[in-house]
Amino acid sequence: MKRNVLLIEPNYKNKFPPIGLMKIATYFKLRGDNVVFFKGDLKDFVIGQITDDCVEKLNHLDKTIDWKLRADKIFTYIKYGRKSDLANVGVNDSDYAILILPWLEYFRNYYRKKEYEKHPKWDWVGVTTLFTFHWDITIETIEFAKLLVKDKKNLMVGGVLASLQPDEIEKATGIRPFSGTLHTPYKDIDEDNPYVIDNLSLDYSILDEIDYEYADSGAFYGYSTRGCIRRCPFCAVPTLEPVYQSYLPISERIKRTQHIYGDQQNLLLMDNNILASKELPQIIEEIRSCGFFPGAKFIQPNLYIIAIRNLRKGINDRAYIRKSWKLLKEINDLKIFSEKERTEIYNLREKNSLLHLETCTKETLISTYKDFAKYFEKRYARLKGKLRYVDFNQGVDARLFNEERVSLLAQIPIRPLRIAFDDIKMKDIYLRAITLSVNHGMKDFSNYLLYNFKDKPLDLYRRLRINVDLCEELNVSIYSFPMKYHPIRDEHSHDRDYIGEHWNRKYIRAVQAILNATKGKIGRGVSFFEKAFGKNEEEFMELLIMPETFLLFRFFFEHIGYTQKWRKEMSELSDEERNELYPLIFNNDFNHIEDITDNEKYRHILTYYKNYRGDIADHNSALYKLKKEFDQSNNNTNENDSNE
Ligand code: SF4
Repeated sequence: MKRNVLLIEPNYKNKFPPIGLMKIATYFKLRGDNVVFFKGDLKDFVIGQITDDCVEKLNHLDKTIDWKLRADKIFTYIKYGRKSDLANVGVNDSDYAILILPWLEYFRNYYRKKEYEKHPKWDWVGVTTLFTFHWDITIETIEFAKLLVKDKKNLMVGGVLASLQPDEIEKATGIRPFSGTLHTPYKDIDEDNPYVIDNLSLDYSILDEIDYEYADSGAFYGYSTRGCIRRCPFCAVPTLEPVYQSYLPISERIKRTQHIYGDQQNLLLMDNNILASKELPQIIEEIRSCGFFPGAKFIQPNLYIIAIRNLRKGINDRAYIRKSWKLLKEINDLKIFSEKERTEIYNLREKNSLLHLETCTKETLISTYKDFAKYFEKRYARLKGKLRYVDFNQGVDARLFNEERVSLLAQIPIRPLRIAFDDIKMKDIYLRAITLSVNHGMKDFSNYLLYNFKDKPLDLYRRLRINVDLCEELNVSIYSFPMKYHPIRDEHSHDRDYIGEHWNRKYIRAVQAILNATKGKIGRGVSFFEKAFGKNEEEFMELLIMPETFLLFRFFFEHIGYTQKWRKEMSELSDEERNELYPLIFNNDFNHIEDITDNEKYRHILTYYKNYRGDIADHNSALYKLKKEFDQSNNNTNENDSNE
C-alpha cells in the first residue's frame, strides 16, 4: 500500500535546498509512495490540507459550482472563521446552501478545535535540521510534526543539528533523532531497503512544491567527497561526517537529474575538503565530462516541455502544476511578445481557467500544451548560452595547495574559488594559495573569515585588509564574508549571543552594523573598504567603539558634527578614565545610564550611545527631518546612510 510521506524543512531562511530531504524523496518515490514536501507556516499547511478535503466534499454536494475556484476564500474562512470570510465564500450561490453551510462549519471546527490532531494522516514524516541557533523553530517544527504522523516511531529527524545534539533534541521532544549521513542501506525505514539513500540522486521537483525560493538554486548539488582530514575545533564536520570518503561518483547522478528535471547551469559541490582526496584527478575529469570545462556554456532547456512531460508521467503533480502555472504567468508578461500575442496568451489562460493556481488542473495543462508550446519555443529560442561554473561552496584548504592540485583545479571553471582564511596565523599559507591560483589563471575568489572565536578584532581587520590589497596588487576579485563564530555545543549554541574571549557585545554589534551597510560582503575597492572599516587599525578600533547610530548613519552624523564632538570627548579621557568607561560601553546596554555610573562625565558620553537612535526613526523629530534634508541633498548616494 502506498504510504503518505511528508517531508518538512523548518521555516528558517537558508540559501541551499535540503539535499537530505531531496534524496529521501527519491527513496520513497522509488518505493512507490506519495511524497509531499513543505517549508513554511505549518498551520497554513494544515489549513491547506483541510481546505482540500472541504473542497472535495463541497464539489460532491453541489457539482454545479466549481468550489476549487473558491479554495482561497474557504481557506481564509477555515483559518479565521469571521462572518465576512464566510460571506466571501458565496454559499448562497448554491441551491444546496442548506447542506453546504454545516460542512463549512464542520471543517472550520475541525481546524479550530484541533480535530486534525486526533486524525493524523501521514504514515511517515521526515524533518530536517540545520544550524544549532535555529533551535527554537526546529523544536517547534518537530513538535508540530508529532501531531501529523500516525505513529511517532515513523517520525524521523535528521540533518546537522540532529547529528550535533541528538540528546538535547530527544530531551526536548521525546524523539530520538538520526545522527550522521545515510551512507549505508538504512533499515529503520524499511527492513528490506536495498538503497544507500545518501547515494541516491536528488528529487529536484519537490522544490517546486513550495513558495520559498532558495537563493542558490539552478545548480546541480552534490558531494564528490565526504568528511575532512582535519579536526578544527570550531567546525562541525568532524562530528557530522567523521570518516573521510575520498571519492563519490557524481556523473550518474548528474545525468539522471538532467534527464528527469532538466539541465542546470552550475555545479555546486558541498565537499568539505576536496583537496585532501587522492582521487582529485579523477574527480576533476568527471566534472569536465559532465560539461564543466572552462568556457563551457549552458543553454536553458525549455522548462515548459519538462513540466508538461513530467505531469504526463505523473512525476510530481503538485510540483508541476505549480511550475506550469508559474511559467504561463511569467511568459504572459514577457516583452519579447507583441501586445497581440500577450493578449492571446492571456485569453487562452482565462478560457482554460489557468489564471489562478487554485483552478489549474493537470488535465487542462496537458490538453492545452500545444496551444502554448509555440510561445515557449519562441521564448527559449531567444535565450543565449551562459557560462557555467563550479563552486566548492564549503571552501578549499589553503594548506593543501601545490602546483599539481592547482593545475587540476584550473581545468574546471571554478567561480569563485573559496579559500578558507580562518586564522591570521595562516597568512603566508593563504597568500601562497592565492598566488598559485592566480598564476594558473584564476581571478575570482571568495572567502569566509571566521571571527569571534580565538581571534582578536584586529585579526579580522588585518585579514580584510590583506584581501583588499591583494585585489589591487593582483588585479583579481576577492570577496570577503566575515562569519561570526557560533558554538555548536553547550551554552549559546541555541542562540546567537556567544561572545568570543577577545570580543564584547559592542564590538560584535559594530561589526554587524558595518556589514549591514556593506550587505555582508567586502569586495574590491580600497576607498570603500577604508570608509567602512577604517583606513588603519586605529580607525578600525575607533569604529568598533563608536555609537552604533553614528556607525549606521556615518555620513549624516559626521555632517552635523556629532561624531566629531563624541571623538573629542573620548580623546580627552585619561587612561584611567578610559579603563573605567570602556567596560561600560562594551556591555552595549545603554537603557539605564544612571544605574551604571554616578560619574557625570561618563554619563554624558554614554548619552551619545543612548540618544538619537529613537529620534532618527521618529518621523516627528527634528533629527529625522534634518536627516531627510541631508539625504535629499546627497541624492541618497551614501551607502551607509541609506541603510535605515
Ligand atoms: S579544514 Fe575545514 S572542514 Fe575540515 S575540520 Fe577544518 S574547518 Fe572543518
